[in-house]
Amino acid sequence: MRVIEPIWELSRGLARTFLSLFEKPVTVQYPEEKREVRPRFRGRHVLKRYDNGLEKCIGCSLCAAACPADAIFVEAAENTDEKRFSPGERYASTYEINMLRCIYCGFCEDACPTEAIVLGDNYELSFTDRRDAIYPKEMLLEPVSAASLLTPRSVEPGVFKRSVPAMKDPQD
Ligand code: SF4
Ligand code: SF4
Repeated sequence: MRVIEPIWELSRGLARTFLSLFEKPVTVQYPEEKREVRPRFRGRHVLKRYDNGLEKCIGCSLCAAACPADAIFVEAAENTDEKRFSPGERYASTYEINMLRCIYCGFCEDACPTEAIVLGDNYELSFTDRRDAIYPKEMLLEPVSAASLLTPRSVEPGVFKRSVPAMKDPQD
């Protein structure tokens, strides 16, 4: 009985390994293959633009004030119609996030009045130098589909006066 027991256990183990050859793999061949993230996943931040290419960020710093990790630094400057970045008076001339500090809580996203800062689905954050962990505005800003949509650009005077878009339903 004592000799049979380990042989039996060994056979069970080998059978289990053999059967797993025919099962669907649970691993993916990253980085060639990427697993889809969950709908509420919070990944690397993106600074969004409007369809017309103007930046949604108005440099108000509410995201920085809401951040519990003090990971965001914002500096604002004045827009002009000749050199316009965003609608309204001001835009973020500097926008930085220290990814080593960030805890991906999403408070910055909740605090933003223009839905400019969004935690996207990119989880590929790696750096070998801690200075590289500070992501500047150029890295965070959403790319544009055409060169004519780039910011800053010259616009018709007096068109983009409002910093925050009008509410679709003021009762919301
Ligand atoms: S996700 Fe949280 S910790 Fe990260 S920058 Fe936004 S508010 Fe700060
Ligand atoms: S991302 Fe939003 S909250 Fe932060 S400075 Fe820009 S507009 Fe203000």
